[in-house]
Formats: sequence, C-alpha cells, structure tokens
Amino acid sequence: MKIAIVGAGIVGCAIAHALLDEGHEVLILDKEGPGFGPSRGNAGWIAHTDILPIASPKILRQVPKFLLDPLGPLAIRPAYFPKLLPWLLRFVLAARPDAFERSIQGIGALQQLALPAWLARANRAGLGSHIHRKGGLYAFTDRGALEEARGIAKRQAEFGITVEMVGPEELRQFEPALKDKFVGAAFHPDTAHISDPLQLTLALFESALARGAIFEKAGITNISTAERPALIGPDGFQRVVDRAVIAAGAWSKPLAAALGDKVPLDTERGYNVSFPGVTGLTTRPIGFEGHGFVMTPLESGLRIGGAVEFGGLEAAANHARTRILYDKASQFVDGLPAFETGTLWMGFRPSLPDSLPVIGSASRNPHVVHAFGHGHYGMTQSTATADLVAALIAGREPAIDLAPFSPRRF
Ligand SMILES: Cc1cc2nc3c(=O)[nH]c(=O)nc-3n(C[C@H](O)[C@H](O)[C@H](O)COP(=O)(O)OP(=O)(O)OC[C@H]3O[C@@H](n4cnc5c(N)ncnc54)[C@H](O)[C@@H]3O)c2cc1C
Repeated sequence: MKIAIVGAGIVGCAIAHALLDEGHEVLILDKEGPGFGPSRGNAGWIAHTDILPIASPKILRQVPKFLLDPLGPLAIRPAYFPKLLPWLLRFVLAARPDAFERSIQGIGALQQLALPAWLARANRAGLGSHIHRKGGLYAFTDRGALEEARGIAKRQAEFGITVEMVGPEELRQFEPALKDKFVGAAFHPDTAHISDPLQLTLALFESALARGAIFEKAGITNISTAERPALIGPDGFQRVVDRAVIAAGAWSKPLAAALGDKVPLDTERGYNVSFPGVTGLTTRPIGFEGHGFVMTPLESGLRIGGAVEFGGLEAAANHARTRILYDKASQFVDGLPAFETGTLWMGFRPSLPDSLPVIGSASRNPHVVHAFGHGHYGMTQSTATADLVAALIAGREPAIDLAPFSPRRF
C-alpha cells in the first residue's frame, strides 16, 4: 500500500520504518523538514520506567502554588488561560483517583513496550550506538518526596520495573559531580539515554529514505474522508494514498478535527540549555525531583532543562525560565559551564490532559490513523507507537489494548 505520514518527528520517522518493514510504499511529509519539533531538542531520556500521568490528585493540590509563581516549574501564560480552560477541565477530570488509575494502566502498558521496541529498531537500522544503557537517577532533596517514591516504586514493580533506592553517599558514588544536598535517590537501572535527539531523529529519517521512503516538504492543511485519503496542502498540493498517518505532534489538532476527532490536544512548552562538547561531568540522566528539571549527558553535550509552560504554539520563548532552571542546577551540581556559553531552546510537547497519546483510526476515515500527543515521553514511546500503528494498518491484533488511546475517549 502507499502510505503517507504527516510529520517527520521521531514518531513519524519511527512509523516510516515500521511500515517499510511491512513492504509498504512510504511518503513522509513535513512542513519544515525532519526533526523540527521537540524531537530536535528534548532531554534524550528513554524514560519507560515513568508510569505516572501528570494529572494526579497530588498535582491538583500543588496547582495554586504553581500559578502564583509565573516562572515556576508549571506556569500558564495569563493571555493563554481562556484558551486553555477546556484542556484544564479535562486535566482536573483526569486527576480523579479512578481516571488517574486508568491512565497509569495505559501509560504502563505502552511504556513496557518502549525499550524493547527501541533496541529492536536501533539494531535493525544500524543505530545501536545511539542508545546508552546506564540507567537513570531521580535525586531527592525532600524526605517526604523520597518516602513517596518508595510507594511509587511498588507500583512500578507491578509493571516489571526495577527501582533501587540509594542513600546520599551511594548517590555521590554514582555521580560525583552532585553536591552534598540530597537525602537519597531512586536508581532506575533499566532506563537508557540517547546520543542526541536531533542526531537520532535525522539518523532514523535518513535510514528510512535509504530503505526507499520518499520525503516531500509540505504543510498539510486537510485530509479528505475519501476511501483513498487525499492529503491537501497550499498551492494545489495534493497526494492521494491508500492510508495516512497523522504524526504531526503538537500541530495535529486541526488535522484530527477535520476527520471528526475533536481531541483536547495542547502543548506543554519546555525549555533547556545545552553545552555542546561538554561531556563527562555526569554519566546518566538525573531528574531533580520537586525542582522541575533533568540533566542529560548527551554525546553532543550536557543538557539541562524541563519546566512546563502553557502558552500555545505562537508565543515567543521566555528564556528567563531557562536561566532559572540553570540556576537551580548550579545549586546541585559542581562544575557546570557558564550559562552564557550554552545554547537555549524551547520545544512544544504535544500533550493530552490524561498524559496518554492518541493512537487509533480517525472517526470519519478508518484509513487514516492518529499517532500523536505523546507529551513528555514521545521519544521514549515512538518506536512502540510505530509498531502499534503498523499492526493497526495491517489489521493485526496490536500488542496492547488500544482503547485507552482512542481518539474518541474524550
Ligand atoms: C524540554 C523537553 C524535554 C523532553 N524530554 C524528553 C525525554 O527525555 N524523553 C522523551 O521520551 N520525550 C521527551 N520530550 C517529549 C518529546 O520530545 C516529544 O513527545 C516528541 O518529540 C514528540 O514527537 P513527535 O514526532 O510526535 O512530534 P514532533 O517532534 O513535534 O514532530 C512533528 C513534526 O510534524 C511536522 N508538522 C506539524 N504540522 C504539520 C503539517 N500540518 N504538515 C506537515 N508537517 C507538519 C512538524 O514540522 C514536526 O517536524 C521532551 C520534550 C521537551 C519539550
């Protein structure tokens, strides 16, 4: 079959490979080029051991405090607040204990597929050297939060995830650059990190082209409901295919709506600073719990970032946020390079209120498959999503129940 994929981010590129495996003719379309969105600059952590949705009973209690701090780890730009309201209401509903539990089951099921899918894809594509299996650390400065992590570790064990709690001394043996400010850490021995998100996205893209996929630069404005979907762009651009996949990240909402699926997709904007060429300070990704940032030793250099800002797809970046993340990091890590030597970046996480992506056929055209909305874990979940999309298109039973990911769940 001839299949078009809208979006050459990490999800679209992974899907291209899964469809090529099945012998399909693959056309990749992107309005900018490969790796334009957050697939370019994310933290590069294959964080399949994270199973908690963002919307939780706990976060609802913290939201008022966050909203009082416009540069805090979670912020809403005031001008964007009215637009975000429907999403926020869904977020509150998703934080109810029963919905929270459903999200955990959905996220856990998808996350369980993530690392094996990455290892298989990386090996087949000759990209194994991009994956570093050094585990990951979540470091705590607050005893209460550390105790809570012990409880979460029990939930993680239900999904076969190993978590080792380590004391402050052991933590500094793991990562000597950390200052003596932590009460302990959770070590996730099975997580991995990648060489560099842009390098890996481009490598996956190039190897898909080498396998026969075709790329065209085109911004798709509509997809028809015809049996053979037509992908329509400006200036008369039109490509008719047998199947289409929407993998346009945070920009997927209007395309899904045109096919009858009004999904509450928004963007959680995230910020980071990278220090090209700075390697060797730390060995593995570290999340600084309660402080809203992570630090990853990418092959391309050290990256420090995080934060969640709701402000839509148009507003300019506010790198005062990035500075704050860096200043926090320098309280916890020795030997950081000067902020001014870093490269600043902001990216658009494609986020649904229940932290689950949308994976499933479009309501008005079963020949179009949605594959977007992976929020904080799109890099992690890309290759697993690709396998699920390939199964859907082939009419095979997918590896997990896709009901939690349905575009019609809202
Ligand atoms: C600060 C930050 C840190 C993160 N850290 C991690 C991490 O450590 N681990 C992890 O797993 N995830 C992480 N993420 C999340 C991850 O980056 C995203 O979930 C993931 O990149 C989404 O990939 P995607 O392919 O769905 O979308 P994108 O990367 O946004 O790609 C979508 C593509 O579609 C194209 N497009 C959009 N609209 C159209 C159109 N109409 N026509 C044609 N093309 C179109 C765009 O140009 C873009 O290239 C992080 C995100 C941020 C912001």
